[in-house]
Amino acid sequence: MRTFVHTSTPSRVIFGAGVVGRLGEEAARLGARRVLLVSGPSRRSTDRLRDALGPLLVAEFAGATMHAPVEITEQALAVVREHDVDCLVAIGGGTATGLAKAVAARTGLPQVIVPTTYAGSEVTSVLGETADGRKTTRSSPDLLPETVLYDVDLTLGLPVDLSITSAVNALAHAVEALYSPQANVLIDAVAHAAIGLIVPALPVVAEEPADGAARADLLEGAWLAGTCLAAAGMGLHHKLCHVLGGSFGLSHAPTHTVVLPHATAFNAPAVPEVMAGIAAAMGVPDAPSGLADLIGSLGGPTSLRELGMAEVDLREAARLAVATPYPNPRPVDAELLDALLRDAWHGRRPG
Ligand code: NAD
Repeated sequence: MRTFVHTSTPSRVIFGAGVVGRLGEEAARLGARRVLLVSGPSRRSTDRLRDALGPLLVAEFAGATMHAPVEITEQALAVVREHDVDCLVAIGGGTATGLAKAVAARTGLPQVIVPTTYAGSEVTSVLGETADGRKTTRSSPDLLPETVLYDVDLTLGLPVDLSITSAVNALAHAVEALYSPQANVLIDAVAHAAIGLIVPALPVVAEEPADGAARADLLEGAWLAGTCLAAAGMGLHHKLCHVLGGSFGLSHAPTHTVVLPHATAFNAPAVPEVMAGIAAAMGVPDAPSGLADLIGSLGGPTSLRELGMAEVDLREAARLAVATPYPNPRPVDAELLDALLRDAWHGRRPG
């Protein structure tokens, strides 16, 4: 018998091809009259959002930067004040979403997010931001975006390498939710569905990046995986990735891609029935080696070394990853994590 606490998050989700055309009515539904459009510097697809927003759009801020540095948030806040903004619309990956959340945290403004990666941040109440070189995380229902528009068309141009690593980032949410203390029959169903959508779609997108059906499966799977992340606490895998990204500057989704098979292999002996469920959803005999083989067949990345991690820093990363306790099915210590990180650094196949 499991004991759990489950919290559902109340975001409104609109999914399909071309749904960004509904952005104006969705913003108006939240009472918006003066919208700030937030994005990264590339401003990819912002013209479609401009068209959809029409006269509601009063300002743009294209300075979103990875890990939400507070100085960038201050700049965006100045634009909010200058233009008397009453609603935030963000387009992009977790970086653009993070900036919208950081501004919402300080203003209470409603958010409409148009995600173009599979990061899942748009359906969580969590914000990670950096100040003075330190990444901290906070969680509050006020951070949850009110509306998410998943437009498959806006993901067709996501480069293959970003598509692979971002989709594995989504897989990691589903995998860790399945052995979290909040796991329940709803999480099981949603996480297995996410894995079942993402795993077969990945090789198709790697071969044909503009395949609309496979892109739709990745995006719907990413949404489901994001809802797992929102409802369930994450374990060892996310802790390691948080340390490697926050303290050693490694890129978010590639780090998830390298670490996931290793963290899964580490936890496998403690939760064999969870691993059997993941393997069944993937259609493979064994979850950790199945993940390693999937990622390897897609061209990786498979080693921390290729992400720029210095071998000399592995011991400190292992120490930081055990510095504060977190739920994980298998107990961790610095020696065990040092060995795990060394395997991941070399790119050794787990299992
Ligand atoms: P990202 O948003 O930085 O995007 C990665 C790259 O992809 C960027 O260069 C971006 O310009 C590019 N890109 C995005 N969409 C594109 C498209 N359609 N076509 C071409 N290029 C495109 O990376 P990410 O992995 O989406 O998000 C990572 C950030 O999100 C991290 O800061 C992480 O901490 C945060 N995050 C937060 C949560 C949460 O719940 N708070 C969850 C997941 C991730």
